[in-house]
Amino acid sequence: MTESAQRPEFADWQDTGIETRCIRAGQDPDPRTGSMIVPIFQTSTFKWPEVGASTGYEYSRSGNPTRNALEHSIASLEGAAWGLTFSTGTAAMREIAMLLDPGEHILMARDAYGGTFRLFDVHTRRHGIEVTMVDLTDLDQVRAGIQPNTKLVWLETPTNPIMAVADIAAIAEIAHAAGAMLTVDNTFATPYLQQPLTLGADLVIHSATKYLAGHSDVVIGAVVGNDETLHQRLKDQQNDCGATPGPFDCWLTLRGIKTLPVRMDRHGENAMAVATFLDQHPAVAEVYYPGLPNSTQHELAKKQMRNFGGMVTFRLHTREAAIHVCNTTRIFQLAESLGGVESLIEHPDSMTHLAVAGTEFAIPGGVIRSSVGIENIDDLIADLSQALESIP
Ligand SMILES: *Cc1c(COP(=O)(O)O)cnc(C)c1O
Repeated sequence: MTESAQRPEFADWQDTGIETRCIRAGQDPDPRTGSMIVPIFQTSTFKWPEVGASTGYEYSRSGNPTRNALEHSIASLEGAAWGLTFSTGTAAMREIAMLLDPGEHILMARDAYGGTFRLFDVHTRRHGIEVTMVDLTDLDQVRAGIQPNTKLVWLETPTNPIMAVADIAAIAEIAHAAGAMLTVDNTFATPYLQQPLTLGADLVIHSATKYLAGHSDVVIGAVVGNDETLHQRLKDQQNDCGATPGPFDCWLTLRGIKTLPVRMDRHGENAMAVATFLDQHPAVAEVYYPGLPNSTQHELAKKQMRNFGGMVTFRLHTREAAIHVCNTTRIFQLAESLGGVESLIEHPDSMTHLAVAGTEFAIPGGVIRSSVGIENIDDLIADLSQALESIP
């Protein structure tokens, strides 16, 4: 397959705002039919006009036009030269881990997403790669954590679930000085709120399952970057290891992306109101939301983010109280995952972060994570209020 055919020319919308790119980049009408919406190319294989000359698409694992449109879209939103999509966010992370050789070292956030922790701590380690975890919000710990064999620094900001904000530009500098590359998991912020490549990151990964797709109806992942050598390696891995997303999942994600900016605005507005309400409630011991002016990380968050996103985490005085609230809300529904239009609530220590329960990285039992949706804000606050008031 020729390179130009695999990446057909898309109109360049880089001179337009991200709101316009969400609708147009990769998503211009189909040139053959005028179809306003990118078609779902639900096919495994493509007919060759003649031997030796394919259309540029041959087999959907190596390339599919719907997937190609999505890859172009996400790259454009992040201001990246290229994008690749994978069957899940986890598969995207694994492909990056596979860039390392045995004996090399990954430095990662100690409070990363539970699945990231499991992937690196269990599986990557088993393949001879060293992994250590530090608090990446403390630059001294980052410097101290760098080893001569460190090849990858893995950053998530804000972190899941404690919403800690790490300084992307400062960590990029430390990583690069040590000859390591920086990958940022931008799932929580999305490119609408934060663009890590412009702050010095080498790769950005997404669980597009969350805010990019935005409707809790698909599981899918993406990696974007600027470096062409990394692109070729990851693209070969995408084809050779085979964790590619299906065309319908790509299409759902393209559809979600069109409304990303309006959704993120409302998520942020609602989350700020929820965080402010919780911050004043006597049953709440602590609120973790970088948008709160009293948050220790408010200034840093303001510097590298447009707004603070839709995730609000808070701690009650006891584990029992946290479990009661998770079981008692009606509009906030008890479920893992995040980033959909509906509000979700969960208890990390017994759900998303069970992998680290009982370890030094455990999330305290009083902590609740909420993904604040785009419902009526008065309904959301009334729902949390009745749950908090009824704590026995
Ligand atoms: C959900 C999530 C992932 C994993 O993505 P999947 O699409 O579930 O495989 C990675 N990072 C973060 C921050 C997440 O929230």
